[in-house]
Amino acid sequence: MNAAPEAPRVEQFEAVIVGGGMVGTALCALLAQAGMRVALVEALSTPISLKQAASALPAPRVSALTPVSQRLLTHLGVWPAMQQTRITPYRGMQVWDAEGSGDIAFSADEAGVLVLGHIVENAVTLAALNSHVVDHPNVTTFFGVSIEALQRANQKADKQTGGDWLVLDDGRQLHAPLIVAADGAHSSLREMAGIEVASDAMQQDAVVTTVQCAKPHGGTARQAFIDGRPLAFLPLTVAGDDRYCSIVWSTTPEHAAELCGSSRSALGDTLAQALGYRLGSVTVCDQAHRFPLVQRHARQYVQEHFALVGDAAHSIHPLAGQGVNLGLMDAAVLAEEVVHAWQRGAPWGAISTLKRYERRRRFDNAAMLALMKGFKVLFGSHHPVLTLARNLGMSGMNQQVPLKRMLMRQATGERGRLPLSCR
Ligand SMILES: Cc1cc2nc3c(=O)[nH]c(=O)nc-3n(C[C@H](O)[C@H](O)[C@H](O)COP(=O)(O)OP(=O)(O)OC[C@H]3O[C@@H](n4cnc5c(N)ncnc54)[C@H](O)[C@@H]3O)c2cc1C
Repeated sequence: MNAAPEAPRVEQFEAVIVGGGMVGTALCALLAQAGMRVALVEALSTPISLKQAASALPAPRVSALTPVSQRLLTHLGVWPAMQQTRITPYRGMQVWDAEGSGDIAFSADEAGVLVLGHIVENAVTLAALNSHVVDHPNVTTFFGVSIEALQRANQKADKQTGGDWLVLDDGRQLHAPLIVAADGAHSSLREMAGIEVASDAMQQDAVVTTVQCAKPHGGTARQAFIDGRPLAFLPLTVAGDDRYCSIVWSTTPEHAAELCGSSRSALGDTLAQALGYRLGSVTVCDQAHRFPLVQRHARQYVQEHFALVGDAAHSIHPLAGQGVNLGLMDAAVLAEEVVHAWQRGAPWGAISTLKRYERRRRFDNAAMLALMKGFKVLFGSHHPVLTLARNLGMSGMNQQVPLKRMLMRQATGERGRLPLSCR
């Protein structure tokens, strides 16, 4: 006689987060810090450590973190480890139109802040967050596993505990009153939940690499619009040498393929020329990587027992360096609403709780997505009127210190009602 098949083992948590990128791991850290029992599921097999992140050459993927994101990471206690590994503050920003005479400069002094932000390798941020959650007593990590299915509760039968089940690809099942998709722009969990996205193919790819320039960057981030396509030189200081930059050139897929196919010396010459030699000659230190750019916005962020955060909810053109900053704000606001309900003994995965998160985040994210689309149209146009308008606009705005201060407050993340963890 065959033995009855063993029932799958179900592990119970107060929240399960799928996706151990910067946003999912930050959310995990926030919930665990408040005392909740959290599971973090990540498809990659080993979490990156601070030792690995401290490589001699900077990793190709970097982000410009705003002072508001810095406050969140400080609140979590991970900022000092990031500082010790490698971060580069920037106090100035220059943006210009290579087709005309429009030029605008921002400075921390004008904005009345210490820094405009920090350029940080994603690996450094993630490693610091990992070091916080991996041994945390409230966190159970599932690395090297993916999700097979999302099983929704029969809400009548399960009114008491509430919650949904996640089936992992190794057969284990996780149950929680709140399941969060933080699994990135191509979120399979979002798809399993049946949430649709509005997509806007930008017809651009981002080419990313690390370079060393002849002149020091001076703690200034630079962005030139060449034929409407933004080329950013983001400052990096490596072992005290402030001539390194991370490059992000958002351009047509054909041009991106050409750039990635050229030799390092030819690419260096092209980059130096495109930047108008503002940092002298350019030596390419790494392979050039290419990322297709698509703006996406989920039609809803929440369902009963379910929420989306970070790129799973919205992905944005990198020209203003806002993507992960928006995602970290999602994590901070969702954690604030959920922890508040949990501490009161209210159902933290209920749609009424989660809707508060959606209301607080959706408008900010939508406004930023719309702004990026507007920039792309304005700078992508060869229409003489628009070219003149943007040149006059930039140069005119450069004289308007109060207006620039207001813009800087927006760009540094000081918008709307910030969660307590970011104040
Ligand atoms: C070229 C470029 C430059 C950028 N520059 C900036 C910048 O300067 N500033 C800024 O703020 N943003 C920037 N961004 C955006 C930023 O990189 C993203 O917004 C950010 O990485 C999103 O983080 P996330 O944690 O939401 O998603 P991700 O980083 O995509 O993480 C998702 C995680 O989920 C895991 N995963 C996926 N599927 C599964 C599954 N089925 N099961 C388990 N785990 C899964 C993945 O392995 C991954 O670890 C840039 C983006 C690009 C392309």
